[in-house]
Amino acid sequence: MKAVYPGSFDPPTNGHLDIITRASKLTDNLIVAVLNNPSKKPMFTVDEKIEMLKELTKDIPNVKVASFSGLLVDFCKQNDCKIIIRGLRALTDFEYEFQIALTNKTMDKDIETLFMPTDTQNLWLSSSVVKEIATFGGKYDAMVPKIVKDRLEEKVNKGEC
Ligand code: ADP
Repeated sequence: MKAVYPGSFDPPTNGHLDIITRASKLTDNLIVAVLNNPSKKPMFTVDEKIEMLKELTKDIPNVKVASFSGLLVDFCKQNDCKIIIRGLRALTDFEYEFQIALTNKTMDKDIETLFMPTDTQNLWLSSSVVKEIATFGGKYDAMVPKIVKDRLEEKVNKGEC
């Protein structure tokens, strides 16, 4: 079974990494797909996100990192993939995720979205929270891998955020 785990990953957090690790055990091949959407004004470029994700997943042989723009269902088709993995945190994620899943299903009935519940320790963890803490000099060591923290600090020190 081949699956795609799409997202903004701006930046990747321990929450993302947990979903990737668990999903990789259930699938033969997992593509972590970084959405290229400049209108979201991301802190990290797609190339930076890909670099970080490749480094973070280098020891998981069945994980591949790629980027996509446009419709996710088209990316799935191009990669011969019928499963989309999404992580769910608190109930607040549910309505949004349900809407996207049903929309994707309407566009391509062969594609299934599978939801994985977050690990309890990542329940309130999001990329935006991490960015906010980093910008204001707070402590967030437990939220992201070390290489992501170093990159974030570099951005903050350079005044790029
Ligand atoms: P998007 O902009 O597509 O929501 P994100 O990078 O914010 O992109 O999230 C990608 C996926 O990872 C989504 O399915 C999201 O629910 C999931 N996710 C994000 N943070 C966590 C977390 N702390 N625990 C589990 N899943 C998460």
